[in-house]
Amino acid sequence: MEIKKKQPKFIFVVGGVMSSVGKGVTAASISAILKSSGHNVTNVKCDMYINIDAGTIRPTEHGEVFVGEDGIEADQDLGNYERFSGNKMSSVNYITTGQVYLEIITKERNLEYGGEDVEVVPDVPNEIIRRIKLAQQEHDAEVTVVEFGGTIGEYQVLLFLEAARMMKLKDPDDVAFVLVSYLPIPSHIGEMKTKPTQHAARTLNSAGINADFIIARGVQELDKPRREKLATFCGVKKDHCISAPDVSSIYKVPFNFEKEELGKKLLRTLHMEEKDSDLSKWNELVEKIDHPKKEVKIAVVGKYFGTGNYTLSDSYISVIEAIKHAAWYNDAKPVLEWVDSEAFEKDPKKVEELAQFDGVIVPGGFGTRGVEGIINAIQYVRENNIPYLGICYGMQLASVEFVRNVLGKKEAHTVEVDKDVKEAVIHINPNQADNVKEHKYGGTMRLGAYDCELTAGSKARKAYGKDIISERHRHRYEFNNDYREMIDKAGLKIVGVNKKSDLVEVVELENHPFFIGVQYHPEFRSRPIEAHPLFREFVCASLARKKS
Ligand code: GLN
Repeated sequence: MEIKKKQPKFIFVVGGVMSSVGKGVTAASISAILKSSGHNVTNVKCDMYINIDAGTIRPTEHGEVFVGEDGIEADQDLGNYERFSGNKMSSVNYITTGQVYLEIITKERNLEYGGEDVEVVPDVPNEIIRRIKLAQQEHDAEVTVVEFGGTIGEYQVLLFLEAARMMKLKDPDDVAFVLVSYLPIPSHIGEMKTKPTQHAARTLNSAGINADFIIARGVQELDKPRREKLATFCGVKKDHCISAPDVSSIYKVPFNFEKEELGKKLLRTLHMEEKDSDLSKWNELVEKIDHPKKEVKIAVVGKYFGTGNYTLSDSYISVIEAIKHAAWYNDAKPVLEWVDSEAFEKDPKKVEELAQFDGVIVPGGFGTRGVEGIINAIQYVRENNIPYLGICYGMQLASVEFVRNVLGKKEAHTVEVDKDVKEAVIHINPNQADNVKEHKYGGTMRLGAYDCELTAGSKARKAYGKDIISERHRHRYEFNNDYREMIDKAGLKIVGVNKKSDLVEVVELENHPFFIGVQYHPEFRSRPIEAHPLFREFVCASLARKKS
C-alpha cells in the first residue's frame, strides 16, 4: 500500500477588537505546546506594511527589530516564537505586504506571468500562500503557525485573509483559525463584555472564515455564561472558547492554554493524532519565576525618549527578556531600571548614582544623542568595578571610552558620531561607506549570524564553554584594527574575533569583576529555559557584587 505523505497543517492566528493583547504570545505558546507534544512546528509572521522588512521602521513605533539567523530584520514577534519554541527564525518566517508586491512586480517585469494580466486577486493571495508554504517546507514543519499583524477589521489585512480562506477551501482538514480577542470589563459596569468579540467573529465571517477557536483575552477568567454567549453568537464550540486572563509572566500562558487542553483540541481539529504535551521544563521555570531567593538590580543605560516605559520595553524586548532569563537561572528576581544617559551629560556627577546597581548594561543603539553620557557611565563602571555588559553600541562606546581615558587619546570616537574624527576607534568598512553614500540603508548593515573565535582563558570563553560561537549582528560600524594592539596591551583584551573577516567581536577588561563588550546581539539567542551564557555570567557577577 502506498503510504500517503502526511499533509502539512496550518494554524492561522488573527486578532479581533484591538491589537497588543497577546496574539504573538498566543502563536508562540501554541508552538511551544505542540513542540512539547513531539511535533515539528514553525511560525510565520505576516505584517501588513509596505516595508520590505522592519529594519527601516523606528523601534519606538514598531518595537524592537528582531534579527533572524540569515539576517532578516523582522518584527519582534519572531523573538517570542524563538523564545517559546526554541526554533531559529529566518527570512521565510517573516512576510510583509512589501515583499509580496515586490515579488509579483519583479516577476511581471521578467515576463514570468507568460503574458497574462496580473490581478490583485488571485495573484496577491497566491503569492502569500506560496510564501507561507515555503516557510513550511524550509522547516519541514508538520504544523505552521501563521500570525497576521493588526486586527481583522483592517483594510490592509484583507488579501492575507483571502489567502488563508483559499487554503482552507482547498484543504479543509489541514487549516484551523484561532481568533485572539479582547473582552473588556468597563469599570462602570464591572462585567466582562462579549459583544466586541461577537463583532470580530462576524468580521471574520464576512471574509469567508469561521473561527475554530477563540482565545478570550481579558483581565479575568472567562466565566461560564460568557463562554456560552461566545459559543452561540460566534459559532465556535463551547470548549473551543479558551480563557486567557492576564498573567504575571508571559511564560505562564502555555499552562493556561493547557488547562483547557488547547494542544489536543488543535490536533483534533487538524485531523492529527492526539498527543499529550509535556510542559515540565516550563514548570521548573515558572517555579523559579514565582519563588526567587534574592533580587538583582540592573541599570540599562541609553538615550531614552519621553515615550514612557511601555514603548521602551518594546524597543528592547529581547534584552529585557535575556536579563530576566539570566536572573531566573540565578534564582533571582530581576529589577530593571532605565537610566537616561543624557542626564549624565547635563550633570556628570550623576553617574555616581550607578553605584546603587548590581550591574549595568548598555544595549544597542544608533546616532549621536546621549552618547557622551553613555561614555561617562562606562568610565564610571569600569573604574568602580561594577559589572558591565556592552552590546553592539555598548561595545563600541566601551572601546572609545578606553582609548580616551586609559590611552589618553581624548579625541577618540566613532565615525558614526563624528565623520571626520582623528582617532576613529570605530570606523566604517569601504563597502559600508558606499551604502551610506548611495543612501542604500535597507537591509545593508552587517546582519545575521557570524562565527566568532574566543580566546582561551578569557571570561567570555569560560561563559560559552566553547572556542567557536555563532551570534547575530546588526550594525554598520566596526572596531578599527589599528587600535587592536594598543588596547589589548593596555588591558582591554581582544578575546573574540571573526577569523574570516578579521573583525573584532568581543573585548574584555582584565582586572575587573566583569566587563565585556560584544559587537553582536547575544539577546537574540537567549531562551527562558536556557539563559544566554553571557547574560547568565553577567547576572552572576552582579549578584556577587551585591553580596560583597
Ligand atoms: N550604531 C552602531 C552601528 O551601526 C551600533 C548598532 C547597534 O548597536 N545595533 O554600528
